[in-house]
Amino acid sequence: MLYPWQYDDWRRIQVLREHWIHALLLHGQAGIGKMNFACELAQGLLCEQPSNSALACSECAACTWFLQRNHPDFRLVCPEVMTTQLNTNAHKNSNNNRISEDTAGTSSKKFKSLSKEIKIEQVRGLLDFCSISPHRGGRRVVILFPAEALNVVAANALLKTLEEPPSGVLFLLVSADVKRLPKTIVSRCRQWFLAMPNAASALDWLRSQSISNPAVALAEAGGAPLAALTIAHDGYAPLKRCLLEQLSAGLNCDPFSCCEALQKAPMSLVLGWLQRWIYDLLTIQMSGGEPRYFPACRETLKHLAQNAEPFQVAQCLKRITQQRAAEQDSLNSRLVFEGLFIYYRNIFRSKL
Ligand SMILES: [Zn+2]
Repeated sequence: MLYPWQYDDWRRIQVLREHWIHALLLHGQAGIGKMNFACELAQGLLCEQPSNSALACSECAACTWFLQRNHPDFRLVCPEVMTTQLNTNAHKNSNNNRISEDTAGTSSKKFKSLSKEIKIEQVRGLLDFCSISPHRGGRRVVILFPAEALNVVAANALLKTLEEPPSGVLFLLVSADVKRLPKTIVSRCRQWFLAMPNAASALDWLRSQSISNPAVALAEAGGAPLAALTIAHDGYAPLKRCLLEQLSAGLNCDPFSCCEALQKAPMSLVLGWLQRWIYDLLTIQMSGGEPRYFPACRETLKHLAQNAEPFQVAQCLKRITQQRAAEQDSLNSRLVFEGLFIYYRNIFRSKL
């Protein structure tokens, strides 16, 4: 099912059907349902009795296969870490056998050793799939998600087929970070930008999911509703509260008090909280603007902003961003958090 904010894009994208392109790059911020949109598109194209608005019927043989993830003319190519996660989710909940862009890429210990890249072997398998005739005599659809996970060798191996795929093959590339995609891949695709849903629509939907404080979760997710839902259900709220209490204390924070507990959470999650907090602090300092991610902490952030050195705040944000990009989950996360906390405390000390 499409999310309420996706119907406009759905209507507009049907125009492409008249001259259906062979490679479509769906992109936009993480947590807005791009992957869901791509799956609806794929199922609608493979469905044997779609509705007038081109939505899949969910009842025909093709839809049944698609929903069971064994349609012979469909391929989903994603990193090993996400395939494993998908299988785990499907095992836990048979109604949830679609991969989600919002729970994907987990950094929990269970998944750490699995590849986060789309590898050459997977692309070779895909090229084999493209070279054979369709089982149902119609269209074949491939989803690559996230497209930026294609490593260089895999991306190069895909170029020729992406440019001139066999008749009836459609590639749907899904990306939250087009800048990380090789230009050679981007130039072979028709780009389709999926915008951030408006806040009212996102909040209505979150309320229908029966989560507490939907506005708080939506703000923290930067306006992305599926990311907000993940935040509401991730079970880390007490840890986050503990972290925010310490961050709120500024110069008086205790770098060691909650770092032991914090190491129970995935490092990328904690770094994300830290990054958003500092981003809000910097926004207030630089532009006097409103906090984007933690509006409920507005007064605390304003007070902290007055007592911190802007250059040091910017450096702190840079440091956290670098740490997050490194994704070195094998590092001792407690040491990393303590180091960042000491750095954070010093941005206030430098103002004294
Ligand atoms: Zn159908």
